[in-house]
Amino acid sequence: MTPVIEIIIVGNEILCGRTIDRNSIHMIRELERAGFSVRHLCVVDDDTADLIHAFKAAAERSDVVLVTGGLGPTSDDRTISAVAEAFGKSLVLDDRSLVKIEELFRRHNRPMSESNRRQALIPEGSRAIDNPVGTAPGIRLDIAGTRFYFLPGVPSEMRTLFGESVLPELSSDFEAEKIQTATIHVTGISESELYDRIKHLPGAGDAFAYYPSPEGLVVSIKTGAVSPMAAAELLTEAVRILGDRVYSTTGDSLEQVVGRLLTERRLTLGIAESCTGGLVSHRLTNVPGASGYLLCGIIAYSNESKQRVLGVASDLFERYGAVSAEVAAAMAEGARTVSGSDIAISTTGIAGPGGATPVKPVGLMYAGLATADGTKTWRLQFAEDRLINKSRMSQSVLDILRIHLERGT
Ligand code: ATP
Repeated sequence: MTPVIEIIIVGNEILCGRTIDRNSIHMIRELERAGFSVRHLCVVDDDTADLIHAFKAAAERSDVVLVTGGLGPTSDDRTISAVAEAFGKSLVLDDRSLVKIEELFRRHNRPMSESNRRQALIPEGSRAIDNPVGTAPGIRLDIAGTRFYFLPGVPSEMRTLFGESVLPELSSDFEAEKIQTATIHVTGISESELYDRIKHLPGAGDAFAYYPSPEGLVVSIKTGAVSPMAAAELLTEAVRILGDRVYSTTGDSLEQVVGRLLTERRLTLGIAESCTGGLVSHRLTNVPGASGYLLCGIIAYSNESKQRVLGVASDLFERYGAVSAEVAAAMAEGARTVSGSDIAISTTGIAGPGGATPVKPVGLMYAGLATADGTKTWRLQFAEDRLINKSRMSQSVLDILRIHLERGT
């Protein structure tokens, strides 16, 4: 049987935006890798009535319910008392858990309080799951066909219990859906254009899912939705149709792909960045082995530094402005000269929100690429958001470099 899986994240701090929920993301990814998908995700306040309501609703609709948070020793940790109340269970002391908690405090030479004893209380009929990295044990409770797992909220503890105890149990007791996905990473194409190009492929309606981000799009192919053979054909066909818009089918990032191409072609790179403020260099240096091809990354933000460090001629600013194809070209050429690299790329633009002129709107950016054969520039127009513009520009200039390296021109 393929289970209906639900995740309940407990914690007021998540609902009021103080903490970003990392537990559900981790569990969803791990479950997906094991071939399971999650049907419901719910975030609940540490409030007894709300918790009871959430647990009862989950028991109605789900086969497996994964709950994290609220197992601690303080009065606002109400998960266990609430589940006991929801299903009419009393709380009993779990001797093994108590011994473990006492041991932990002895080992750390810390006095143990009565509230820590409380963490060894579990609903009658449930089973404690060893927590080798913290005090509160995990708990498994089966209620009329629904299996609940209660795990600590602290992400490192949750990950240990989930990975070592919960996931292996689920994998052995339930049938996985075999939803392993293949992905196609594309950039430089809108979601609607991409959809129009591949929607007619047989089986595409069921198998394809589209995930846009400022950097591009990921098309995910669920191999469970069609036969593995059909999924492989869909992948090949979609990649053929999308052509050079596809930069990866292995999950590699664009910077990894660019790094690999530079290594294969034994070429070195210099970078001159203005509007991207070092983001292009940052992304490339995130890839281990970048020192094999990246010679230097310069953030030349002011006109003066563009002149002094990169040698951009001052009259270009007067004639064309700092955000221009001419300055982008001169920056790339300057970066190539300064670094002594085979190739250099550059960025200059108006990231926003200020800085626009009647002819140069926010989001206008230029990229340059210089080689021994000459220099090319590209004009790009993004929208209003400064951080998204930086992110999209870094993607565009890396993609320009990728295409240049792939074509060998
Ligand atoms: P403890 O025994 O340490 O009290 P707990 O099970 O009671 O653990 P919580 O009190 O709910 O867990 O959370 C403890 C801390 O773990 C929180 O302050 C928060 O920093 C982190 N945390 C809890 N839930 C999440 C979550 N979903 N994502 C990220 N961090 C979380």
